[in-house]
Amino acid sequence: MANQTGMSSKRDYYEVLGLQRNATVDEVRKAYRKLARQYHPDVNPGDHEAEEKFKEINEAQEVLSDADRRAHYDRYGHQAPGGAGPDMSGGFGDLFNMFFNQGQGFPGESRQETGREGKDLRIDLEITLEEAAQGVEKTVQVSRQEQCDTCRGSGAKAGSSPQRCSACNGVGQVRHVQNTILGSFATVTPCVRCRGEGSTISTPCEKCHGNGRVRHTRDKVLKVPPGVDDGMHLQMTGEGDAGVRGGRPGDLYASIHVKEHPIFKRRGPDLYSELPLSFAQLTLGATLKIPTLLGQETLEIPAGTQASATFRVRGKGMPDVNGRRGPGDLNVIVKVKIPTKLSDEQKQALRTFVALGDEEDKVGLEQEKSILGKVFDRLK
Ligand code: ZN
Repeated sequence: MANQTGMSSKRDYYEVLGLQRNATVDEVRKAYRKLARQYHPDVNPGDHEAEEKFKEINEAQEVLSDADRRAHYDRYGHQAPGGAGPDMSGGFGDLFNMFFNQGQGFPGESRQETGREGKDLRIDLEITLEEAAQGVEKTVQVSRQEQCDTCRGSGAKAGSSPQRCSACNGVGQVRHVQNTILGSFATVTPCVRCRGEGSTISTPCEKCHGNGRVRHTRDKVLKVPPGVDDGMHLQMTGEGDAGVRGGRPGDLYASIHVKEHPIFKRRGPDLYSELPLSFAQLTLGATLKIPTLLGQETLEIPAGTQASATFRVRGKGMPDVNGRRGPGDLNVIVKVKIPTKLSDEQKQALRTFVALGDEEDKVGLEQEKSILGKVFDRLK
């Protein structure tokens, strides 16, 4: 078997379970069940050989049914770099993370290409305010690195396996010791020859050219939850680039961009809109149909409403993206509509009105500036 090397007396895991190297997870499970039934200690009481065999089967199954550990095993065999036993994924992974993933974690920032983990990917997603309010499913195209299915990520051609790197002895890093008068100092750097991977490939897989990964463009359905706001990120765990040599895949982040709405502005859970009303409507009162984001509502304007008035329509704002609170409110801000074309008769009527009333009844023209703008200034 390809992974049996002189230094190890252990049997190949595939051989233990009687499987081909391209066996599926299901095949691994089936083979395990069959053998486990056969060699189970309860079935073979006192049979030491069966007991050993049972242990061997369990260990093989544990590694081969775990994608990460299996890829690792395919690459390194029983001789894991760092000298670990069958459970090589933990310690070795941490070592790599230490070297390659410093400063990771910011959405969309690329991680080291040659590290074990796949890169996070970031895409932009533009939606309307209505879509943000109701939630939406969007199909996007994502171009990403996926594990090569020909070599299952090992990068080596079928029938061959990666060779332990001779420069670092398979550890993936090189230790330099400096002797100074203060003592010896050791520095550890990733191995240059194998780029920190611990092994080199002499016969690369023809499909991925030894990369272990192939670029695919996939349609991904993004579920945008109701209440999402501009600038938020949706994180899809494991949907980024595949890991290198069995490493963990990166995540996919979708940055939400909510398009400007012609009528409504959003601030947190609340929406704001302007309602242009005539001097007469404000003075005498009115009953109006006003637009809400997803429909319309009837609004009573009491007689004598001032130009700066705001009407709150409860529950007609945005839903809470976490579903913990109820929806916000719609704030309707009154704006005075000043007529620019008046007939002589109308002008005369207004002059009569002014002559009959006192100073404070005169229309305040300073309200012409955007009231919405002023309200937003106040909220800042
Ligand atoms: Zn390949």
